Amino acid sequence: MENGFSFKTLAPSADPMGAAIAEYFKTGKAAKLRVMSEMFDEDEIPVKTLFRTYAQMSKLEKLALDKAQGSILDVGAGSGCHSLALQDMGKEVCAIDISPLSVETMKARGVKDVAEVNLFSPMLDRKFDTILMLMNGSGIIGKVENLPAFFRRMDSLLAEGGQILMDSSDLIYLYEEEDGSVSIDLAGAYYGEVDYRMQYRNIKGETFDWLYIDPETLTMYAAGCGYKTEILYKGNSYDFLARLTK
Ligand code: SAH
Repeated sequence: MENGFSFKTLAPSADPMGAAIAEYFKTGKAAKLRVMSEMFDEDEIPVKTLFRTYAQMSKLEKLALDKAQGSILDVGAGSGCHSLALQDMGKEVCAIDISPLSVETMKARGVKDVAEVNLFSPMLDRKFDTILMLMNGSGIIGKVENLPAFFRRMDSLLAEGGQILMDSSDLIYLYEEEDGSVSIDLAGAYYGEVDYRMQYRNIKGETFDWLYIDPETLTMYAAGCGYKTEILYKGNSYDFLARLTK
């Protein structure tokens, strides 16, 4: 844990999302993938949406796939939906995930280059022209204080002239009052830092930190680490796609 990030992958017994993905792939059906948090009411991820095709993807995702070029790293690739779409476009992509069951599913679905490896593990020792992080791709960074270590990791993975394509959402809307004012505790943690825990059937995952970030905070930290930020797209639910380059 040289940089504060874990290098680990998941045990199949603690991999609820992977179990949901594997079951949906094998049977075409899945139970509830439950998402719990100290900060929000319990929610669920419809497992089918993890298998979305290019046609079913949002404008933001389509734009990210169109902008991805050269050798591409699909970080936290899940069911492989983006990797498969990129392969169909004739692009070269390597999919990674810490979920053994998702990795197994991606192989079975025809993702050609897949590895069960953590983004922060030194075992991942290659260079990429595009590092793709989608479905709140900033989540993996966990906390704002991890941003400098994240960018140092990107320094070692990006080829000369490479780009990071990452989406996130500004959670500020959760704190907006009806009169348009915002009530956040400025002395508290950054408002986009969330804790999550997932469960699928009786398979419980560990609690993990998940970062939602606003474009200004991202731009400021990126600049401090030598990266330029372009906001390529803003959706209408506070979501955005950023392109980060050196
Ligand atoms: N990109 C997919 C799945 C998003 S869910 C989609 O858009 O549908 C986030 C994924 O990231 C999960 O599959 C999870 O197992 C994986 N993940 C979480 N932390 C990771 C890390 N440090 N390195 C690689 N993958 C990670």
